[in-house]
Amino acid sequence: MERLIIIGSGPAGLTAAVYAARANLAPLVLAGGMYGGQLMLTTEVENFPGFPDGIMGPDLMIKFREQAERFGARIENVDATGVDFSKRPLVVSTGDTEYEAKSVIVATGASARWLGIPGEERLRGRGVSTCATCDGAFFRDRHIVVVGGGDSAMEEALFLTRFGSKVTVIHRREGLRASKIMADRALAHQKISFIWNTVVEEAIGGDTLQALKLRNIESGEESELAADALFIAIGHDPNTAIFRGQLDLDPAGYILSPDGTATNVEGVFVAGDVFDIRYKQAITAAGSGCRAAMDAEKYLEAMEFPVEEAIA
Ligand code: NAP
Repeated sequence: MERLIIIGSGPAGLTAAVYAARANLAPLVLAGGMYGGQLMLTTEVENFPGFPDGIMGPDLMIKFREQAERFGARIENVDATGVDFSKRPLVVSTGDTEYEAKSVIVATGASARWLGIPGEERLRGRGVSTCATCDGAFFRDRHIVVVGGGDSAMEEALFLTRFGSKVTVIHRREGLRASKIMADRALAHQKISFIWNTVVEEAIGGDTLQALKLRNIESGEESELAADALFIAIGHDPNTAIFRGQLDLDPAGYILSPDGTATNVEGVFVAGDVFDIRYKQAITAAGSGCRAAMDAEKYLEAMEFPVEEAIA
């Protein structure tokens, strides 16, 4: 039986692993087939304290992992496929293995959202993508379109200027949601242009993307824009499918935490983007991972060494 299983290996999960391992809990981290979370899909991280010159997202996650392993965290690159939190011990399964645990930290993060328009799924990997770092280099000297008005969209657009002959950002409003520094950089960039108040209604193409069907939401006017690539950067949804019916979720699927990092199930704690509807930063995820590990440690201490026994 495990004392603590951590599900997820982004900044939240791996910070929880560092703290839990240093508290001698020897946590088992189910890191997922693709460990490291969303920073594995990003380029330069400029706002993580301690790296004044910035650091590449994947390099940062390798450091997180090494630090957790150094103190005895066991990290397995497998996906948790189900949980049963109605029993004691708690059960976490990975398809072929069922693990029992006294406590669990859920740090499964969030995944990129898709538009849900015709052509999008068929042309995925053929011009349509949610990951500029993964696919940007395929579109050297091409026309690249980015959808979204947040920090992710600006970051993707700026990164894609390295490859594309031109980058067009399409946003459904007149103003950006992105932070001022990111918005200013994108608005000032010579290769980036903006189409406002517009939504993409269809991805058109044969073997590869050729054009996008657009609609201006103010005038209703429809048009077609020739494009070689469409990068969708419209936010993320929490990865909570396996916790449905087990943990209390809000209508958008985020895990509800009535107090700190506790969930509605005793012994199950939560950290990172999977319950953070507001901040969603690597540093805030790491902070909540620390809190979840400390809460789990307190919980295990009270469970394993009840006060009556300690006094006796
Ligand atoms: P976000 O801030 O939620 O922005 C999502 C954008 O996509 C919004 O502009 C939204 O439009 C648009 N959108 C949503 N659904 C859409 C749809 N169906 N069709 C068209 N447009 C749609 O998400 P994010 O940019 O991924 O950022 C998430 C968090 O991570 C934020 O807190 C952000 O600051 C942080 N982040 C920070 C950095 C950085 O600091 N370098 C980088 C990336 C992310 P509306 O504006 O109309 O809602």
